[in-house]
Amino acid sequence: MTIHQNFINGRWQAAVGGATREVINPANGQVIGIVTDSQAEDTRLAIAAARASFYGRGEWRRMSGPRRAELLYRVADAVKARADELAELDTRDNGKPLREARADVDDAVACFRYYAGLIGKPQGGVYEVGDGFGPMHSFAMHEPVGVCGLITPWNYPLLMATWKLAPALAAGNCVVFKPSEITPLSAVALFEIFEQVGLPAGTANLVLGTGPAAGHELALSHDVDMLTFTGSTRTGQIIASAAVGNLKKVGLELGGKSPNIIFADADLEGAVEWAMIGVFFNQGEVCSAGSRILVERGIAERFVARLAERANAMTIGDGMGNPDIGAIVSQAQLDKVLAHIERAKAQGARLVCGGERYTEGGCAQGFFVRPTVFDGCTREMDIVREEVFGPVVAVQTFTTEAEAIAMANDTPYGLAGGVFTTDGARALRVIKELRAGVTWINCYNPTFNEAPWGGYKMSGYGRDLGVNGLLEYQQVKQVSINLQPGVVGWYRN
Ligand code: NAD
Repeated sequence: MTIHQNFINGRWQAAVGGATREVINPANGQVIGIVTDSQAEDTRLAIAAARASFYGRGEWRRMSGPRRAELLYRVADAVKARADELAELDTRDNGKPLREARADVDDAVACFRYYAGLIGKPQGGVYEVGDGFGPMHSFAMHEPVGVCGLITPWNYPLLMATWKLAPALAAGNCVVFKPSEITPLSAVALFEIFEQVGLPAGTANLVLGTGPAAGHELALSHDVDMLTFTGSTRTGQIIASAAVGNLKKVGLELGGKSPNIIFADADLEGAVEWAMIGVFFNQGEVCSAGSRILVERGIAERFVARLAERANAMTIGDGMGNPDIGAIVSQAQLDKVLAHIERAKAQGARLVCGGERYTEGGCAQGFFVRPTVFDGCTREMDIVREEVFGPVVAVQTFTTEAEAIAMANDTPYGLAGGVFTTDGARALRVIKELRAGVTWINCYNPTFNEAPWGGYKMSGYGRDLGVNGLLEYQQVKQVSINLQPGVVGWYRN
């Protein structure tokens, strides 16, 4: 089996220590790849390459916007040309259904195109100014931040990589990217594409390895100007405190325990389907998952019965066969999800459906969990407070709008939230009260390249996607011009 390597300064190379790591298909436990396993010294080599490229040769940051855009459009075309292969890589690596992986590839193509297009649009501003020194002119110029470290999780391997790489590169930065050690394969393919389209050496560097061994150096290093991270809140805290040494700019996209509020006047069947998309899409391994359903008491019984009926009917299996639910990403994550389920039962939540590992058919060697609904949940239960990151939902009931809002905000997280109602004024009222960065009305979970994505509270700071996503990777320089050269006459002698 080929050993996939780091990509540093335009060259594929093994980690200095020579260690390797197996990549496992969670649908059957089989080894599907071997990757080099890096340490901090490998990350330092990649940082040095990015630094020499950005501050030394400066090819990428000095390249005109349109030319940079042209290369990123070529990346998008090459990703599209390898779409089937990339989707299969993510399905085998992560466990997700193939059609969801295929949708991720389409989103990644669109994301590279979006930022390629955006970098050519007007940025900054020009101001007529004047003060005691006479007439002046001021303008703001957007520049790349410099060397950016990018770290991503395993739930959307190609897409999370793209959400960071596309805007960071469009802005003219040089980057060191460390994907999750659990799902590194599509990142390797993406860097093959970078090589093929001819990004200058050192512009984009790939380091494969674990967070503590390879990723942490990106937070610690004084040679990294910016660090953007998507992952758990706990790791985000560790990274943010390690990053203070040189006060590098930090962006954090973290975990969530997001409320999905269903009022009695909502279209019930539609709300059930969106709630399923909210919590069972990608096996529930979604940061924005609507993992707390708050349903108005009058319809709660009917809603839960229909949700359970449809959850029970979901097909489960190897993602390559396009089931409704694929495998949980790893044995460790499977154990974590099952432990959450057991704790919820012990703490008195009522199990309505699922609640166990799935081993039927060919699934015994893989890491599958039946879609699980808990009813009668209360605020002190862990299943209401903690992120599970699996196909598990906790249902609570409310009677008034004010109570629903209070319950929705009763969490340290603030990533996402949804509301289902046919009363438009109420929908907006509730959304305005939600302390969350991504919200949906009468739908749940769709994301758009055009719309900013990120959290409030302990779900992080900074934004991916949209114009905000590009601004994250830029810094603004003010340039003020004196329009009347010569003596100003400020001093009296
Ligand atoms: P994780 O925090 O364990 O790991 C994420 C990444 O950080 C991995 O690449 C890992 O190797 C690296 N890492 C771990 N420790 C590190 C350290 N000390 N220094 C540097 N890097 C380190 O998260 P995960 O289990 O891979 O992903 C699941 C989490 O990600 C969930 O909490 C989920 O909510 C969150 N997530 C958030 C978003 C968002 O947009 N807000 C999107 C996807 C996932």
